Amino acid sequence: MSMLAVGGALRQELLHTGTLPALPVFAMTYVFTPCPVVALPVAGSDARFPVRRIFCVGRNYAEHAREMGAADQAAGLEPPFFFMKPGDAVVGGDGELAVAYPPATANLHHEVELVVALAGGGADVAVDAAPGLIFGYAVGLDLTRRDLQARAKEKGHPWDMGKGFDQSAVCGLIQPVTAVGHPASGEIRLEVNGETRQRGDLADMMWKVPAIIANLSTLVGLAPGDLIYTGTPSGVGPLQRGDRLAGRIAGVGTLAARIV
Ligand code: MN
Repeated sequence: MSMLAVGGALRQELLHTGTLPALPVFAMTYVFTPCPVVALPVAGSDARFPVRRIFCVGRNYAEHAREMGAADQAAGLEPPFFFMKPGDAVVGGDGELAVAYPPATANLHHEVELVVALAGGGADVAVDAAPGLIFGYAVGLDLTRRDLQARAKEKGHPWDMGKGFDQSAVCGLIQPVTAVGHPASGEIRLEVNGETRQRGDLADMMWKVPAIIANLSTLVGLAPGDLIYTGTPSGVGPLQRGDRLAGRIAGVGTLAARIV
């Protein structure tokens, strides 16, 4: 069987069962050493959460949608829209995380978000089956080069370089569902240098976590290791080198970061 065929078979198995089968062992050589698996620490465990892909939901809190210039959705809820960051754009863990101020921007913005960490996957997942795929939750930051994003929007170009740069996905300690359940309400807040910049409530998310997962799974086959950043409340704003960030979601946990 060719490698391509093996890859296809694994993908079919993943889509069919939502889990990866035990991998066959190949005598494999590479032309250079493959990148290590990016993995995040988990509260109360020595085992790490291996990251696959990072999906992000845009404009999921009405107040933030307004501050970004969206018209009020008088006609009803629009479908969620998604963008991505590379899996290795994640910087995470416990304690104060050092996050590099990225190149090519003069307007780096913070967006504090609830992060969903998947241990299962599949395509066309039903809303009521979606919580069963979740391993845990974390407090995260969707860092954004707002000037690059704005320029891309203006020209109708992709957002990737505004959103998916190195260290753009900050993620606190992953809290397993077994410890925190499935938080659907609770304050989400971000302080920068001790001053509250963003404050909202998970209950104000327009698209709730199970519906986000169900919708996303109609677009791609979800897989164990996928992270979903679920959108940010209002109050996004610029960061400078030296800023200290403290994120907190009631019932989930905290995140501490410093821009260096
Ligand atoms: Mn965001």
